[in-house]
This record gives sequence, structure tokens and C-alpha cells, in this order.
Amino acid sequence: MITVSRVHELRTHCDDARAAGRRVGLVPTMGAFHAGHRSLMRLARAECDLVVVSLFVNPLQFAPNEDLDRYPRDLEGDTEAAAAEGVDLLFTPTDDEMYPQPIRTTVHVDGLTAGLCGRSRPTHFDGVTTVVAKLLSMVGPCRAYFGRKDAQQLAVVRRMVADLDLAVEIVGCPLVREADGLAMSSRNRALDADDRRAATVLSRALQAAASAIVDGERDPDAVHRVLAGLIATEPRVRLDYAEVVDAGELAPVTRIDGDVLVAVAAHVGAARLIDNMTVSVGATGVDVDLGVVAQESESEVSCAGS
Ligand code: AMP
Repeated sequence: MITVSRVHELRTHCDDARAAGRRVGLVPTMGAFHAGHRSLMRLARAECDLVVVSLFVNPLQFAPNEDLDRYPRDLEGDTEAAAAEGVDLLFTPTDDEMYPQPIRTTVHVDGLTAGLCGRSRPTHFDGVTTVVAKLLSMVGPCRAYFGRKDAQQLAVVRRMVADLDLAVEIVGCPLVREADGLAMSSRNRALDADDRRAATVLSRALQAAASAIVDGERDPDAVHRVLAGLIATEPRVRLDYAEVVDAGELAPVTRIDGDVLVAVAAHVGAARLIDNMTVSVGATGVDVDLGVVAQESESEVSCAGS
């Protein structure tokens, strides 16, 4: 694996690969790798000839009061993990390399960014779409891999790519969980033992909501009550939102039917955590996608060095 931190080096490697007819895949990340990140790399490795992973804690997507300075960083562990997944190129730019001058151009996706996380993080998604647009432009991948853990981000990026006719296929990858159900996140590293235990209430609440829907509940307000009620039993967890929205447009639904996203966000200790599931209600029944549990060996690797 080669590590580069300059944009021109990255471009040269990717241009050469494309000129040789090789398929380039991109996995954008902010590092502190866990089994969720690794599952994206693994899929990219299976589908592409040159696998590029970008590791950049993007200041543009953090508001001044957020955790940019506290965001976990582990370049050594990440380099090892990416190499173990067969990544070809690790791109680790500095802030100055990514933003050599104050940025006057941003990419804004309207509507999809207003609700859910956009309500408490109004500038967040412009930071995401701007950096992803830049990375897509630098790398020129035929495929880019994103996790369903960040379901709103995935929907927003898909919409940006469609609206701007960007020549890349966005691949959505399963949400990866710890054995006790907690959605894997770099921010889980910030949790102390009590908060770590309390944080499992998010996935337990989603499971309870899934059971209610499978049992026939179709009222989103009732599902909200299931989620908020269970989360309220954990005093260490402060709910930000618990919502049922249309899976495509992310607009609130009045009745649970078709494809919906059930999404939650909450503050646990110093961390803000998100989790979600997709539910498809059709004529033949209800299909719930809560993601997958990481194999034990994967989560062991993800904890190394933390
Ligand atoms: P991040 O480093 O948190 O910005 O995440 C980089 C990519 O990994 C994004 O596409 C995330 O959605 C994805 N990702 C993060 N956590 C998980 C997870 N638990 N399961 C699947 N994908 C994830």
C-alpha cells in the first residue's frame, strides 16, 4: 500500500490506473477505522482494481461547537488496517492541502439536508457534499462506497451525484454493529464504560420499533413513542431525534408504508451517536434491515490501538 498526502500524487496514481483500463474505487473516511470502515474497503477490494481510501477529518463538516478537536485520530492503526484490507492507496491530506485557500465554493443539496441531523447540524451536510465532490474530482472513481450507518449522508450524496451528473456509482454498504447491537462508530471510542453500556439503548429501541411495525403498527407517532420511551429509560442518553421518514426524500411520513427510514440520534456522554434501520412494508409483508454484526475478529482488530 502507498500512502500519499498530496493531491497531485493522488491524481497521478489514479490517472495512470484509469489510462491502463483499471477500475478505480474510492472509500472516503475520517479515519479511526473499525469493522464498518473495513467492510467498505473489503467490498471495494472485491469490485475494483485500484482501491483508494481517503482519510481526512474534514473541518468543513464540523460546526465551531462540535468535536473536531476531540475527533479520534490513529494514523498508525489506520495504516495497518487499510493495508490488511488490501487497499492500494491511502490518501492522507492536511487541511491546507485540501483547502489551500478559504473556500468560496460549496455544494449544497436542498431539502434532504434540512431534517434529521440537518436540524441540529445545519452546516454539516454542505461540508460533506463539498469534500466528497472534491474527492470524487481528485480520484475519478467509477465507484464510491458509503455506509448505511450514515443513511442521510448516503441519500444526500446520491442526490448530489444524480443532480450534477457525476460519473460515479454510489454503493451503499450494510450498517455494521458490535455484538451487543451498538452501531460501530469512531465516536464510540470516546465512551466510558457506563456510557458504552447505556448507548446500546439506541439499537434496542430500533429493535423494539421494528417489532411494533412487524406486529402491524403503521402510525409513525406510535413508533416515535416506542423509540423515545425506551431511550428515556437511560438517564445517560439524551435524545436528539427519533423519526420515521420516507427512505428516498427523507420527508416525515403520515403512515408507515413502502420504504421508510427509522432514524435516531442522541448524546451519550461527550459523543453524539446516530443509528437507523430501513423498513420495507409491502403487500407480502415487512422487511427490516438493521444491518449486520461484525465478526468477532473484525471488532478485535477495530479496537486495537484505541
Ligand atoms: P466516517 O469515517 O465516520 O466518516 O465514515 C466513513 C464511511 O464509513 C462512511 O461512508 C460511513 O457511513 C461508513 N461507516 C461508518 N460507520 C459504519 C458502520 N458502523 N457500518 C457501515 N459503515 C459505516
